Amino acid sequence: MKEKKGIKLDHISKIYKDPKTGKDFYAVKDTSLEIEPGSFVTLLGPSGCGKTTTLRMIAGFESPDEGEIYLGNEAINELTPNKRDTAMVFQSYALLPHYNIFDNVAYGLKLRKVPKDEIQERVTKILKLVELSGMEARMTNQLSGGQQQRVALARALVIEPSVLLFDEPLSNLDAKLRVSMRTEIRRIQQEVGITAVYVTHDQSEAMAISDKIIIMNKGVVAQMGTPHEIYYHPNSEFVADFIGEANFLKGKMIEHDDKVAMIEVDGVPVKVTYDKGMKDGKEYTVVLRPEAATLSTRGGVPCTVELSRFMGSYQNYHVRLGNTLVKLEEHNPKNKRIFEVGEKCRLVFEPESVHVL
Ligand code: ATP
Repeated sequence: MKEKKGIKLDHISKIYKDPKTGKDFYAVKDTSLEIEPGSFVTLLGPSGCGKTTTLRMIAGFESPDEGEIYLGNEAINELTPNKRDTAMVFQSYALLPHYNIFDNVAYGLKLRKVPKDEIQERVTKILKLVELSGMEARMTNQLSGGQQQRVALARALVIEPSVLLFDEPLSNLDAKLRVSMRTEIRRIQQEVGITAVYVTHDQSEAMAISDKIIIMNKGVVAQMGTPHEIYYHPNSEFVADFIGEANFLKGKMIEHDDKVAMIEVDGVPVKVTYDKGMKDGKEYTVVLRPEAATLSTRGGVPCTVELSRFMGSYQNYHVRLGNTLVKLEEHNPKNKRIFEVGEKCRLVFEPESVHVL
């Protein structure tokens, strides 16, 4: 098997001219990060944050204005896309319309002058991997979106690159197919053991598929971490808000020991955990996920129900805690006490569920 290669971005920037103002701006600014060999990493962020630009610089379709990109130990800034050990899967599939499946997948190998029997062997193997065996003779315009995406993936894989790059590959598929294809892509990536970099603006796709997520905002990396780290330990309001739903409670710290602190939110002391230095008397923002708290008649902190609605798999509440409105999702509500609008009750959560920003 081929040696796995990681990717390193070393102080990368890309400057574009804004077509409206004619002024230069940083689409990607001073970005440094490392992608481990064999891992699946997703670039996630709002429209225009620089995800695609970053991916296209790794592919070689754009060149950085500052910094250096490494594939394994090799600096690759000067290499054209076809000289890089990468292959890209596009949103538009980019298939050859007058070719059948076999010839589409074989195309890159023919260009590389691979012998005919080796082409036959490699294409057959890859079509099996993407579950298109037996469909070699089908023309690509007779395929569903999901099948076309499999062909696109096979075309990228067959040249045996060290890194697969995906530019929002599933955005033209319907919601259900998107979910099954992302599982397929992950399965294939793990089976081949290839390094993958994937661009999406769909946070659930990023959570489901990635070893690590890179959250970008306005051309810079806001946070890089495992889905678990990003969800439970967001480093900013931007990240907490972008991934999942979040309540932000603001309050002054009253006291703290090694790991646990008391924060006064609208006059109510709330016990929280934290993982960085904190000072008594200072204002902090804490993140509480909607599913991390429950309503009860005892314990916790006092609150009043302002909205209570059944959503099937959960009961959705809005409760008021002083001046702060907290959104909750009480899962599996069937056998639980349901609180109605206007009821006074208690908001209960573990200190571990509340994270200080
Ligand atoms: P989306 O999710 O909408 O695709 P993105 O995060 O992938 O967004 P990029 O395509 O990387 O964002 O674009 C980053 C910024 O650079 C945007 O403001 C975009 O308008 C701008 N941009 C991208 N390509 C060019 C270009 N060739 N010339 C000028 N500006 C560009």
